[in-house]
Amino acid sequence: MTTSPSDIPTLADLYESKAIPQSDEQPKYRYDEALNKRVSIWRGDITELESDMIVNAANSSLLGGGGVDGAIHRAAGPELFEECEGLGGAKTGETKVTGAYELPSKLIAHTVGPIYSSSKKDQCAAQLRSCYSTSLELCKKHGGGSIGFSSISTGVYGYPIQAATEIAIETTRTSLEADQSISRVIYVVFSQRDEDVYKSIIPRFFPPPPSSPPSYEEATS
Ligand code: ADP
Repeated sequence: MTTSPSDIPTLADLYESKAIPQSDEQPKYRYDEALNKRVSIWRGDITELESDMIVNAANSSLLGGGGVDGAIHRAAGPELFEECEGLGGAKTGETKVTGAYELPSKLIAHTVGPIYSSSKKDQCAAQLRSCYSTSLELCKKHGGGSIGFSSISTGVYGYPIQAATEIAIETTRTSLEADQSISRVIYVVFSQRDEDVYKSIIPRFFPPPPSSPPSYEEATS
């Protein structure tokens, strides 16, 4: 079963249907309706997403591994491994693009997230930021369109989900503001917990529309 971006609600839709809980925190960025229509949070399997690019949480060998990486290699088939063999690996924070073979998406960006260490917090944050920004840059370079991100480094690599999600979302906000070629960024979350975290953090970076004042009837009833 495949899901295309047109089947996935945008942030604007989620705010409209009140599927995102109200946040008490002060937004860090201004409200922008057009940007809210270019972002989605979707719980599902990234190998079933039909987008222009998906982003794989790879390791530095780029030859496949566990978690989302293993799922992508299994679903894409052996030709993906053959192409990856020719890439010569990648450094942490670096991203390389391949075809997607049997997957419904067109391209795969393989990005190498940091293995989290609390004693190297700043370095890990810079590397994770680079994963997101280089993936977005490569999506633009390949013609833009839709891009689905897995939650880089937050599985086996142990990056705390809250901090990683802030980096994912803030990097996207600045990138989408600077360029129109990416029509949709889809955060593919695999668990209910991750979905809740993304939904709790996103209003700070992509705020909801300002609430309209109560109607006369509401105000006087
Ligand atoms: P890392 O080694 O970078 O931490 P993992 O693959 O262990 O990468 O985990 C990254 C994220 O991918 C985790 O949130 C995990 O739940 C999620 N994940 C695992 N399989 C899939 C899948 N098929 N589709 C989308 N996300 C997945």
